[in-house]
Amino acid sequence: MGFEKFGKISYIRETKVAPFVDYLEQGKVMATRCRSCGKMYFPPRMDCEQCMTSDNMEWKEIVNEWKILTYTVSEFAPTGFEDDVPYILAIAESAEGLRVFTRLSKDVKEEQLQSDMKFKLAPVRLPDGKITYELQPLEEG
Ligand SMILES: [Zn+2]
Repeated sequence: MGFEKFGKISYIRETKVAPFVDYLEQGKVMATRCRSCGKMYFPPRMDCEQCMTSDNMEWKEIVNEWKILTYTVSEFAPTGFEDDVPYILAIAESAEGLRVFTRLSKDVKEEQLQSDMKFKLAPVRLPDGKITYELQPLEEG
């Protein structure tokens, strides 16, 4: 008893979620969902921590509506991002209860932030050609 929670299950996680990037390229933000218990994972992972299984996950497009729970303005950046500061890092919660820690679009200034603002996760292309995502204001209607 207890050993099912012990072990190195995380090694292969990143390679197994490679389709996430393909979906992003298509403009889709996907989570994974456990077919057994229904738990959703974002960022996606291919093993369910509740069921301890990795063969019963499916891809599911998220309800792309987020509210910011808290944020911080980053004045200092890691190497390679020096020209990018200041930027806002936020923890946001989706309409489905998913949580994400990511950057806010630079189009949004700190003084514009309001507690009832809604955001979407949108793919963004980095200068080096890689793709990531950021929170952007969600237009109503
Ligand atoms: Zn599960």
